[in-house]
Amino acid sequence: MSPQSPFPWQANYWSRLVNLHSVKKLSHAYLITGLKDIGKYQFACEFSRYLLCRSPSNGNACGNCDNCSLGHKSDHPDCMKIFPDDKGRVIKVDHIRSLSEFFSQTSHAGGAKIALINNANYLNTAASNALLKTLEEPSDKTFIFLCSDSPSSLLQTIRSRCQTIQMTLPEKSIAINWLQQSVVTPCDFDSLLNSAKGRPLYALELQKNDLLAVEERFINLFLELTTGKISLQLIVKAIKDIGEVIAIDYLINLFSNTTKALLHGSLEDQISSQEKTFLDICSASNLSTKNVALAFFKFHDELLVARRHLSETNLNTQLIVESLVWQWHSLWRE
Ligand SMILES: [Zn+2]
Repeated sequence: MSPQSPFPWQANYWSRLVNLHSVKKLSHAYLITGLKDIGKYQFACEFSRYLLCRSPSNGNACGNCDNCSLGHKSDHPDCMKIFPDDKGRVIKVDHIRSLSEFFSQTSHAGGAKIALINNANYLNTAASNALLKTLEEPSDKTFIFLCSDSPSSLLQTIRSRCQTIQMTLPEKSIAINWLQQSVVTPCDFDSLLNSAKGRPLYALELQKNDLLAVEERFINLFLELTTGKISLQLIVKAIKDIGEVIAIDYLINLFSNTTKALLHGSLEDQISSQEKTFLDICSASNLSTKNVALAFFKFHDELLVARRHLSETNLNTQLIVESLVWQWHSLWRE
């Protein structure tokens, strides 16, 4: 078995943690932030293997000891992984309760106990409060890694109890080099990475599943809603078909890119042709550029709130989506 290691663009973050660990200064809790699909969770998984390894060498897990073998075949009993439920929408309080129980038990291998929480922004209120308690009472040799591409959706009190690792987009050459080694069918890596907005793991997904087409079709529908060509019901149905969280993420992406381009005209060459079309549609309205930007800001905020609400099980998904679509419609068509 080969030694485990992080992705090539994560070397700096990795060595920083390894160094802290070697001088016993690793913090109890880390929040790994950054865009989706740059390998935040995979980094945390790899680092947990390193922490559990009995004989790490050169800053990597050995890949051969009993802990490495155990962690490779299935989940290591001293590493608990928590992520949103099947629909990808919520981390419930039961998950966090089992986490406190996990930490209260003796370590299986006699070493560290680690919890990894992926997409931590989907913790609902009760789960957030329960996690806060765990973060406030750190026990010896326990580590928690939260990963999130939307850290502002987390409770401020949770964020303040974690050390933040802000992962940036990989350098293009490093990402392309990695894609060349990871993609089976050769392709135009440069434009593949551009379509994925520089996120290597998403580029890989796009190539495998032709996901780009799904996003494009959905954003086209949203453009048609903006020009009044299709009904509110049609877009609500499209959102339901794709999955509410995914569709809202597509919209968040559309609005953050176009708002940036609107505010700094020079960025216009960095947006997709579809985003350009969207900007053209909105610029052709009677509103001034300033008011278009304000409308974009406002709706971007609404999207973030909606995404947060989708993680609360007691709210009606259909209602959240309908109200969102209605807000855009009235913001734009009135
Ligand atoms: Zn090992």
